[in-house]
Amino acid sequence: MVCIYCGSSTQVTNSRLHKRQNEVWRRRRCVHCGSLVTTYETVALEASIVVQYAATDLRPFSRDMLFISIYESCKHRPTALADAAALTQTIMGKIFTRPLAPAITREAIIAATQSTLELFDAAAATYYTAYHRQ
Ligand SMILES: [Zn+2]
Repeated sequence: MVCIYCGSSTQVTNSRLHKRQNEVWRRRRCVHCGSLVTTYETVALEASIVVQYAATDLRPFSRDMLFISIYESCKHRPTALADAAALTQTIMGKIFTRPLAPAITREAIIAATQSTLELFDAAAATYYTAYHRQ
């Protein structure tokens, strides 16, 4: 990884595995300008998991699509952006339980999202359900 400020090489000065999020946190120091940057190594879900929409309709999983659908459902809330980010993490934790198959159904994503939104905000759940009927 190169420094975001000057483009020189960086060295890892600290590293921690976050088992719950299945990610590695790293602090890096630039060998030229000494700047510190933080990086996260996570699984590339888009390249690893497919969503089954129909028998022959498989599409790469998109965290962004999940986030946008939740954000749209939460737009009436003043904290919609932060809420949608946290809810996306929660729902992904529900969807990606082990053992995990390489394909997940669209219905499973919708069910996990609906149940999470019902506990969080009734209006958001109603909005989401209206746009994601199974
Ligand atoms: Zn630098």
